[in-house]
Amino acid sequence: MNRITYSRAQDVDDAVHQLGIINNAKLIAGGTNLLDLMKINVMQPDHLIDVNHIGFNTITAEANGWLNLGAMVTNADTAYHEAVVRQYPLLSEAMLSAASAQLRNMATNGGNLMQRTRCYYFYDTAMPCNKRKPGSGCAAIDGFNRMHAILGNSAQCIAVHPSDMAVALTALDAVVCVSGPGSAREIPITSFYRLPGEDPHIDNNLGPDEIITGIKLPPSGFSKHYSYLKLRDRPSYAFALVSVAAALELDTNHKILKARIALGGVAHKPWRMPEVEVRLEGKLAAADIFRETAEMLLEGAQGYGHNNFKIELAKRAIVRALEQAVNKQAES
Ligand SMILES: Cc1cc2nc3c(=O)[nH]c(=O)nc-3n(C[C@H](O)[C@H](O)[C@H](O)COP(=O)(O)OP(=O)(O)OC[C@H]3O[C@@H](n4cnc5c(N)ncnc54)[C@H](O)[C@@H]3O)c2cc1C
Repeated sequence: MNRITYSRAQDVDDAVHQLGIINNAKLIAGGTNLLDLMKINVMQPDHLIDVNHIGFNTITAEANGWLNLGAMVTNADTAYHEAVVRQYPLLSEAMLSAASAQLRNMATNGGNLMQRTRCYYFYDTAMPCNKRKPGSGCAAIDGFNRMHAILGNSAQCIAVHPSDMAVALTALDAVVCVSGPGSAREIPITSFYRLPGEDPHIDNNLGPDEIITGIKLPPSGFSKHYSYLKLRDRPSYAFALVSVAAALELDTNHKILKARIALGGVAHKPWRMPEVEVRLEGKLAAADIFRETAEMLLEGAQGYGHNNFKIELAKRAIVRALEQAVNKQAES
């Protein structure tokens, strides 16, 4: 059994201070991911800093029209919040597709963004995994890789990021608010996560002494035409094989004014290509245009055997999600 110590942070400065001075410490929020990983020795912190009492547990509208989701608000309270449902239904839909009601009641927004990959080999300490143990190799590349990445891979890692919330936030151009020693900064979510490259053990660009305090959403929530399509092996309580967060702004003749498309389950980070979205502007919202878009989004995709099916699945999912986004109002 591993011995661990525990402390409760009084506020964000205290949490940051403790992170800086305590060796091998980890923040704990809902614990729904961290404790699972500790029980199987995948993560082995010596000390846990409880951040459940530092505040940042409200959702607040800012004067400039942005909405700030506190890092400590639970996934359930966020998904059902009146302003989220009304202004960002894409986010609400994505969050409610994740995990189970019990988990969403415990899981926090900060913890959700920081959850680790579900790669089987990351979870199995008997197997090599560059993300868990840098330099040990990647068992997934020649192993059972049905759930693994098809875009943005490196020879070191083909794991995917598991968060549904992060995919919707990426489509919505959210910003992650973080605090570090003596300063605070904002990171666009599109720059928050990393591709595996040579350092797959680093999931994101949060500094070692930094803590997430909130997530800000811009005023435009694409509340009329949106869809979160999550394809998985069973209809609930499962991670995405492929997911698509699609958001459109259309004129009255179904001409596309703006488009946002983010993919989950296909890469080490939510996958988005703004240069492809721009090409949709001014076009009519129609199936052939959507298929062309899907082909462009999957350009360069590579399967590793068991996950080859994901390439065509992702293309079809993109077309379907965009069609659902167009027809959303008729559905509701
Ligand atoms: C069976 C099961 C099924 C699931 N299915 C899905 C799914 O389909 N889709 C999905 O998206 N998720 C799914 N999840 C994941 C779940 O959403 C995450 O476990 C949860 O969101 C993590 O939040 P938490 O508050 O419990 O984090 P914790 O477990 O407390 O922490 C997770 C990580 O985040 C760090 N952390 C926590 N708070 C902060 C902060 N404020 N700043 C910086 N770092 C922080 C911790 O140090 C830790 O490394 C599932 C989980 C389980 C157990």
